[in-house]
Parts: sequence; structure tokens; C-alpha cells
Amino acid sequence: MKKNTVTEQLLFDLLKKNFGYDHFRNNQKDIITTICDGNDALVIMPTGGGKSLCFQLPAITLEGTTLVISPLIALMKDQVDALRANGIAAAYYNSTQPFEETQQVLENLNAGKLDLIYVAPESLQLLDAHLTAITINLIAIDEAHCISSWGHDFRPAYTQLGYLKKRFPETPLIALTATADRSTQDDIAEQLGIAHAQKFISSFDRPNLYLDVRPGQKRNEQILAFLDKHPFESGIIYCLSRKSTESLAEKLRSKGHTAQAYHAGMSPEQRSKVQEDFINDTTPIIVATIAFGMGIDKSNVRWVIHYNMPKNLEGYYQEIGRAGRDGLPAHTVLFYSYADTIQLRKFIDQSSNVDYQTAKLDRMQQYAEALSCRRKVLINYFGEFLQEDCGNCDVCKNAPEYFDGTVLTQKVLSGVARIKEQEAMGTVIDVLRGSQNAQVYDKGYQHIKTYGAIKDVSWRDLQQYVIQMINQGLLEIRFRESGRLLLTPLANDVLFKGKKIQLAKLAQPKAEPIVKERKPKKPKGTLFEKLRDLRAELARDANVPAYIIFSDASLKDMEDQEPQTVKEFLEIQGVGQVKSDKYAADFLKIIKAHLHKPKPKKPSKTFEETRSFIEQGLSLEEIAEARQLTVSTIYNHLIRLHEEGIEIDFYQFIQPVEIDQINAATSKLEEPEKLKSYFDFFKEDIPYWKIKLALFLSKKTEKN
Ligand code: ADP
Ligand code: ZN
Repeated sequence: MKKNTVTEQLLFDLLKKNFGYDHFRNNQKDIITTICDGNDALVIMPTGGGKSLCFQLPAITLEGTTLVISPLIALMKDQVDALRANGIAAAYYNSTQPFEETQQVLENLNAGKLDLIYVAPESLQLLDAHLTAITINLIAIDEAHCISSWGHDFRPAYTQLGYLKKRFPETPLIALTATADRSTQDDIAEQLGIAHAQKFISSFDRPNLYLDVRPGQKRNEQILAFLDKHPFESGIIYCLSRKSTESLAEKLRSKGHTAQAYHAGMSPEQRSKVQEDFINDTTPIIVATIAFGMGIDKSNVRWVIHYNMPKNLEGYYQEIGRAGRDGLPAHTVLFYSYADTIQLRKFIDQSSNVDYQTAKLDRMQQYAEALSCRRKVLINYFGEFLQEDCGNCDVCKNAPEYFDGTVLTQKVLSGVARIKEQEAMGTVIDVLRGSQNAQVYDKGYQHIKTYGAIKDVSWRDLQQYVIQMINQGLLEIRFRESGRLLLTPLANDVLFKGKKIQLAKLAQPKAEPIVKERKPKKPKGTLFEKLRDLRAELARDANVPAYIIFSDASLKDMEDQEPQTVKEFLEIQGVGQVKSDKYAADFLKIIKAHLHKPKPKKPSKTFEETRSFIEQGLSLEEIAEARQLTVSTIYNHLIRLHEEGIEIDFYQFIQPVEIDQINAATSKLEEPEKLKSYFDFFKEDIPYWKIKLALFLSKKTEKN
């Protein structure tokens, strides 16, 4: 029996009321409908895609209790905390709980008071006796890949889960995971006894992650410059060794950043302290070995940096995937150097399974050296095909220019030929550049014809060009033979048959050299920062991680929409009834105070600065970029300057057709008084500030 007939409207109502969301993401709605109709489902959705909602919403929609199997105790606790913060009755049951707590949980379970009960597979047997008397409305198996030995994270305790479908044949079962290739998917479904379950497979792509690969020179300087541009944001830097995590963390602290190292050599207590401080936003920056991040559900990690190249794309994708789970833009940086790949190949050579791992490393390297859209390379690796370039990677943002590199290439190839294909890249470059080092002289390379043939290109640049030649299949590296370079058949076409070669011009590393002693900056006082401070305070009081109160996405939405009443506050994404009751007053107070700051007599310095940029004819986006403020703030400056009586040509920031479009939308909206209606109407393509500006200008012309 169901609490209600499950209509689409009911699902939307419950979504807003309990979770504060207006829309379903990906295929959430289809999945939820399938389950509410009593069917089984297998869900493959990338990290941050919104898997939890697929069973949490049915849990409160259907009569009875949902049983959730989840392997990681830390995650279980997080999810239960988040559900409770939304006023949903949830609890977990595992081996770490004190006796009294377990008793309380069981009592509530038996009394039918729980909408969801989370349990670790190891503890399921103990709980089983208590499941007989109550209605189980749904069984959810999270991280379902753990059941399959084909998957990458096999957990023996998962294999017994096959009994669930036999024990509750009428109860829908949903299995969810972020990673499972074809054979793993089939294995999961078979083992769980849901071979006929409908499959829901979302794209692997995470379009909000900016993919950035940079030359691995002056990494520390690049990182410091990066951090200057991302103050107060949470992020993770992955390093290969324990020692380097510690020295880099120390270095960052000496420059005024709050950063901690994390690695397997620390005691469990130290590690959980570091992890907790990260989750609670006390320590924004973690410098870690790959051991960090498993089982962390922090949704507002804004960036991930790889100090060294990972061994394969699976690991890389999993690690960058820890950024931007809230769906907001997040930045990822991979430092790439040729020396790193040599190092990794040495590791691999000592391991078993050399060919397999070498193939994976090759793909990783191709990604790092790609001269076309990186997301295409990445997504393609995972078996999907992207039609268009993504526009959100460094290559798309900064498409390389090509030049006729035929002569340069010929010189390199003939250099390799003349030293009889006996040397690795470093020596080849030395010879071509006419280096006088001992190794070159000892072998008499100063006498060959191409010695010093390419003096006018720097060592690093020449290295990059040679790498391009390797990638174009003109040269081959024999890794097993000290990495010597060999000519391929294609090389002969260039040397003897007039084949032309295009090379990409090199982007110089942006080693932004602003690395003086730096004091931590004062918060700039944007509304977002004020809201974040309030959130931190509330989180401390309630002793929960900050994102349990509200996600960054919610704060961002508050900043954009500037709600001033409880009704408007309820429109913010992530604000459901319970959170509104609890927090509306506090947040509205901050927002109102921010909007009604007493006006200084004269436009203050910040407005003047914006004004001078406007006079230079910059766009609002450019001004925002230059001033490191949000576009919305710059827009507020415009209005403010206008109110001060300063003449502003608003029409330089908006096209007449945009104003027309926005005005035309008004009559089609059910609630035209809400900015969000417009925002949604235009599929989030038109930013809030532009909507405000258009409406402002229309009103102004009406008055005149
Ligand atoms: P996953 O388990 O797939 O990694 P989560 O279930 O943790 O992802 O969801 C990631 C984030 O997206 C969470 O902050 C969640 O609250 C948010 N989210 C989920 N569904 C929606 C939705 N329909 N609208 C807005 N945000 C959502
Ligand atoms: Zn791209």
C-alpha cells in the first residue's frame, strides 16, 4: 500500500518540500517513477550526479521504510546527518555504535518511525530479524560495484546481498554506482537477482569540471598564484610521496595559507582530525597522497590539483571527481612533465602486468599532451563519444595555433639518424642545441653534421616539439632500452618524400610571478562570503559539517537572487520547509543588511574603480575578472553609480534583442515577479544580472 498515489505532481511537491529542489537532474525522475511503480533499477551515474535522491525520495513517498546498504561508515553518517537536517527520519546501524544508540535505532525501526535505515553489509545479518515485522518499501544498494570482482573495489561482504531479493521478492530493489563497465553491470544485476532490472546509465561527463593541464615547471609558484586567485576555497593537492605532501603543506603555510598534509604514514587519529577539519571548512587545503578522499562526501571542494601525473585515467578521473559535487564550476589542474612519465614507467617496469599498465599510462600521457579538446579524450576513454568540443578545458579555451614545422622536424629526425638512433631524448636535444656537456663530447657528437642545428629554440621548447613529433608517430621511444629514440617509417616520408608537418605553437607556462610574502587576504565582503561565514557559525553551533546546513550551490543562489522574504527564501535551491523554518531568519538578516548598507556620501573607491573600467569600455565579465569580483557585484556597482547620478550607458552591456526577449518572456511566465522564473525560462542561459538589467531598463523607459 502506498501513502498516496504517486503522481508526478506529488514527486515535485515532495522534492521541493523535503530537499528544496525545483528540478530533477539527469534521469532522476524516470528512476524514481520506475521504483515507485514497484520495479527494480540499476543506476550508473557519475559522482555528484545525484544518486542518493533516487532512493531517498521514494523512501518518503512510499509507505514503510527503505533499507539502504552502504559500505562506508563515514558516508552513512554524512547522509543520515543531511537527511535529518531536512527533517527526514533516518538512522544508521553499524558495528561502531554504542549499545544504547543501537537499541534506540532498533526501537524506532520496529515502531515504523524511520523512513530510511542505513546499514553496512557486515551488519545486515544482525539487523535481519528486525526486518520481518515492518514494511520494507525499497532496498537500495549503494556503491553496488563492490559486489563484483570485475569492479575495482570488490568487498566480500557484498556477495551475500543476493539473498535480499529472495527474501523480499515483492520489494523493488535499486542498485547504484558511479563506475561499472558493461561486464560489471551485468554481474551486479545477476548477483543481486535483478537481471531484468531497467538500466539507467547517465553520461560519465562532469561538465562543471574545468580541465586544465599545465607544464610542470615552477609548480610551487604556479600553485601559489592559483591559490591567490581562489582565496578561501576548499581544494586538494595530490602528490606522489609522503615527504612531498609535508614539504608542500609547510611551504603553503609559510605563505599564509591554511593547509595540512595527509598520508598513510600518519596515525589514524591524526588522519581523522585532518579529514574532519577539511570537511568542516576549518582547513581548506589538503596536500595528500591518493589515500585521501575515499569516503569523503564534501560537496564544495572547489579545486583539485595533481602535482604529479597519475598512473592512469581511471585514478585521475576519480580524483578530480572529488571536486564540484554540488554541480558548481570547479577547477582541476594537472601538472605534466616528461620526467614524471619516465619515473612512472620505471615503477611500472618493476611491477607485474607491465603491458597492461603501460597501455594505461600511454592513454594518460596522450590526455596530458592532447592538442584537441581534453574532455573528448577523457570521455572517449570511458567509452562515450562527445559530439562537440567542450569549451571548458584549457585546450578549448586556448586552442593552439599551428605553424609549418617541417624544417624543424627534419632537423630533429636527421639528428636522430646521425647518432644512429642510440640516444634518449635528452641527449638528442643537447646535440641539436650544440651543448658542450661531457656526454656529448665523450661520444664525439660535436663532429656530426646536425650538431648545433637548432640553437635558436630553448631546451624546454625543443623538448615539447619532440614530444609532439612522438605523438604524431614520427619517432618512437624504446622505454626498455634507456628510452632511446628511433625513427618510424613515417619519419622517412618527412626526410625524403617532402611530407609537411604542422606543429602546435607552445603556450608559455603562466608562471604568474607574484610570489612575494603574502598575508592572508581579508574577506572581500561579498554577500557570498558573508553567507559562508554565517553558515560556518551555524555549523559550529550544531556540530555538523558546513555543507549539511547549506551547499555552496544554495549560498550562490542566495547571492544571485537576494531573497528578502521567507517566501522568496523558500525559492532558493536546497531550501526545503525544515531548513527554511530553521534558518530563514538568520540568512535573511545578513542579506538585508548587505543590501541596505548605509550609503556613503561620495562613491567609494571600489565604485570608482569599477567606473574607470567601464570608461575603458570593458564588459562586465571582464571587469569582474579584472577585479576578482562576481559579475553580479559589478552589476550592483553600475546601479549604485547610476543612483549616485553618474551617467552610465547601460546599453553597452546588453543587446536590444536581449531586452526584447526578456520582455517578451514576461507574459509567458506564471510568476513574472520572480527573477528565477526568467532564469529557468531561458534554461539558465541568461545570467541573473542581465535579467535584472533588462527589467530595470524597461521600467525606466516606461517611466520616461
Ligand atoms: P552522488 O551520490 O551521485 O555522488 P549526491 O547524491 O551526493 O551524488 O548528490 C550530489 C549533490 O547534488 C548533493 O549536494 C545533492 O544535494 C545535489 N542534488 C541532488 N539532486 C539534485 C537536484 N535534483 N537538484 C539540485 N541538487 C541536487
Ligand atoms: Zn574541451
